[in-house]
Amino acid sequence: ANRKSVTVMGLGPMGQAMAGVFLESGYAVTVWNRTASKADELVAKGAIRASTVDEALAANELVILSLTDYDVMYAIFEPASANLSGKVLVNLSSDTPEKVRDAAKWLADRGARHVTGGVQTPPSGIGKSESYTYYSGPREVFEAHKETLEVLTGTDYRGEDPGLAMLYYQIQMDIFWTSMLSYLHALAVANANGITAEQFMPYASAALSSLPQFVEFYTPRLDEGKHPGDVDRLAMGLASVEHVVHTTEDAGIDTTLPAAVLEIFKRGMKNGHAGDSFTSLIEIFKNPVR
Ligand code: NDP
Repeated sequence: ANRKSVTVMGLGPMGQAMAGVFLESGYAVTVWNRTASKADELVAKGAIRASTVDEALAANELVILSLTDYDVMYAIFEPASANLSGKVLVNLSSDTPEKVRDAAKWLADRGARHVTGGVQTPPSGIGKSESYTYYSGPREVFEAHKETLEVLTGTDYRGEDPGLAMLYYQIQMDIFWTSMLSYLHALAVANANGITAEQFMPYASAALSSLPQFVEFYTPRLDEGKHPGDVDRLAMGLASVEHVVHTTEDAGIDTTLPAAVLEIFKRGMKNGHAGDSFTSLIEIFKNPVR
């Protein structure tokens, strides 16, 4: 009678993994998906199929959303919005912090409370406590459901602002995509020179794992807004980036990525930062050319 229960709406790879670990953890799980057949395997394992959005909402106070983005949430709830009152929606879909803030208001107007989640793992990491998800929104609502959310991944509560979890998510993704594209770019240059991904792997890994020490070194300086050229100078960095661009050209590889980096260095030089650290380029980012 005291069996814990939860609704999962959206059964893409993520939602399926989530509903699956809830079932394995002994939860009564109600599932809903636009394409109903995606629930079949879960239902065979004991999940309860909701055939409508209303049924899915009615089944539990706690409703987990795993949808493509926040527009999908409106698409499925607008026709059913009268039934949102009293619900706790933990939205694990990705979108922008602004969209999330709007959605939290939209739900509050309908008597529902919204907890934002930014999941930092692929489906294979769901159910593992070493994976984690950023959360934000009303603290007491998060705390009340923390134990259930920890069935999915570890939790990292970032604060009350509904946009915060998504902001942390997006600034991580900013680093992820830029870094992974730089890896692919470097690999393309390596490949053009007969070096395989396997041969490159230890070197690529070493380059990436050297980054945290730079982040730590520059952090206090960045918080103070100081960019002294005592350990590196932008003019030196510029020459280095030019070498990367030329090595890329010589390999017959597309230069878009390092050329963009070079462009930012040049703007820093033009703005009088030649003798400052490359960290002065943050001023270029903060003063976009309009
Ligand atoms: P998918 O895009 O594969 O699945 C999304 C779900 O949204 C499906 O259930 C789909 O239903 C539903 N959907 C899409 N459009 C509509 C619509 N108009 N009306 C109703 N339902 C709709 O995403 P994932 O499962 O991969 O991921 C879910 C969320 O998790 C995303 O926001 C993603 O960014 C985030 N995420 C994903 C990670 C990953 O590795 N996959 C990692 C971290 C975060 P249907 O089956 O009917 O199409």
